[in-house]
Amino acid sequence: MNTMQGGAVSVRIDMPMAVDMQVADDIERESVFVSPKLKSMRVSADGMSAVLEICDGLYTQEVVEKAYRFVAAMAKQRSGFEIKTFATNVRQDDGPFQSGVNEELMRRGWVYDYGKGQVAYNGPVLRLARLINEIAGNLYEKHFDAVDGHFPGFIDAEMLHKCGYFDNHPNQATFVGNVVGDFDIIEEFRAANSCSEGAIMPKAEHLHHGGMCMNPAACFPAYPTLQGKRLENAGFALSWLGRVFRHEGRNASGLDRLNEFNVREIVFVGTGDYVADRRRRALPLMVELAKTFDLDMEVQTATDPFFATVSAAKKFYQSTQEVKNEILMPVLDGKGVTKKIACGSVNLHGRFFGEKFDITAHDGGVAHSGCIGLGIERWVLAAFTQHGFDPMRWPVGVRDRVFG
Ligand SMILES: [Zn+2]
Repeated sequence: MNTMQGGAVSVRIDMPMAVDMQVADDIERESVFVSPKLKSMRVSADGMSAVLEICDGLYTQEVVEKAYRFVAAMAKQRSGFEIKTFATNVRQDDGPFQSGVNEELMRRGWVYDYGKGQVAYNGPVLRLARLINEIAGNLYEKHFDAVDGHFPGFIDAEMLHKCGYFDNHPNQATFVGNVVGDFDIIEEFRAANSCSEGAIMPKAEHLHHGGMCMNPAACFPAYPTLQGKRLENAGFALSWLGRVFRHEGRNASGLDRLNEFNVREIVFVGTGDYVADRRRRALPLMVELAKTFDLDMEVQTATDPFFATVSAAKKFYQSTQEVKNEILMPVLDGKGVTKKIACGSVNLHGRFFGEKFDITAHDGGVAHSGCIGLGIERWVLAAFTQHGFDPMRWPVGVRDRVFG
């Protein structure tokens, strides 16, 4: 069925097999990586078909075929695995959820949205972001003797390759380019920009990608620093505030989905027992953190949003082995409907990084690792959604620090 509608061409395609709501959501979100010509993809309520909106004039059979190959790959990623809840917090504040938080934060001048998945913030938003980071950091220090670290924002592509990132999330990588080191080419670039109205980018063939990327997962840069080491104790914890970069395409929106965000990270490295024990002890700490900010929160079984063609088996493995938990908090979507967003994740890596980076545990075996990442801006969004803008609805200790 092809129909012309508001300047775009609509095409309905049939699913190779019916998909459930969870997979339908994933398909709609991930469809931004199908083709620059595809404006949107909406899965029908029965999960049997999808409507493609293709930019007018750019309509090609090629986009439809690409979209079909994409849904064929995604449809195999059945969800349906059992979701277990490992920890819960219920907020005391009984006021309603605040709608339009992103817009209101901008109106008040507390958040500035650059419109490309990046934000600046100040005032109460900055104070809240710092407080979340500080309290999480203090909990980690107190309970896990976590040592502070600092890591760069760029990461070598070799490292990402080693960590399996290009194999799992090729769509989200961000590459750093430089003008090639050629006198004439650099001069051409300089001269073009010396009196131009807008920025003139170097020609594609004049941009050199030397294998540097923006770091897309807070903990990756930690592992190379442990290369070839043998741990002296059962294990140790390292914690820091990391800057993370993920290309979200046109899914980027407000504080919910940023191309660039902050993560309070903690990494555990040690024997299998050490890492399992720390993960177990971390769950009540997540509850304590949610209680401090008085937020509805659940920690549940989850899987990574892998790229479409990554085997369904990987997702299944993640869910059944319970190697990934998400810290979910309810917020409101653009229509005012409650949705849960992942404000962090608790991950067990098994021996994956220990093997890749030749890290030996105290017991002589390959070191195990695990990590917890807290997405600071999402915690901020959840807090303003769940308590609104009246300071009296916020927990006392937090209220003074944030609105002070
Ligand atoms: Zn991590």
